[in-house]
Amino acid sequence: MSLRLVERFICRVPMWYRALFPGATWRIPAKSGKSIYLTFDDGPIPEVTPWVLDTLDELGVKATFFCVADNVCRYPELFAEIQRRGHQVGNHTFHHLQGLKVRTQNYLRDVKAADELINSRFFRPPHGHMRFMQTILLSNHYDIIMWDVITRDYNKRLSPDQVFGSVRRYARNGSIITFHDSLKAISNMQVAMPRAVRWLLDEGYVFKRLGDPAD
Ligand SMILES: [Zn+2]
Repeated sequence: MSLRLVERFICRVPMWYRALFPGATWRIPAKSGKSIYLTFDDGPIPEVTPWVLDTLDELGVKATFFCVADNVCRYPELFAEIQRRGHQVGNHTFHHLQGLKVRTQNYLRDVKAADELINSRFFRPPHGHMRFMQTILLSNHYDIIMWDVITRDYNKRLSPDQVFGSVRRYARNGSIITFHDSLKAISNMQVAMPRAVRWLLDEGYVFKRLGDPAD
């Protein structure tokens, strides 16, 4: 496979992979106009999340934060601040578990414990995968939200230009775009995210939170 194809696979997940997660949402196209769903995973942490909140305010857009409950425990005021600023929140497990590495029962227990703090119907699996049975069982209780464009802002081998490039290349009506409010991602995200938002606004995209009416 050429590098371009690998990149395409990673940035925009193909249909056969999406089919492994029945009922999950990857994209929410608007019937008229162009919607975009900006999402941030892995926070909240004081080193990154307040900067993201201030920047989103300056840009005038709302987003959805998939929070790790362990971080919510440590920084409850930051979690409250995300909601106070009008953003949506979602569950990203308590301990950022990889579904394939833990038994289904333990995975479900971890998600439930996170739910007690986060209290959201939206769930995103860390690392973007989980066992088939975990998907089926969780979809009874949550809207499972994956993504249409992953920026790989956490990848130190990518430059902010490349991270922005993946948004410019792959964003389309209804794309759910994933950034990270994490230490790993901060150097790329701080440059690429505001650039991406400005570019999307110039292109006529309307920013929505998960749960907002699609049209
Ligand atoms: Zn994550």
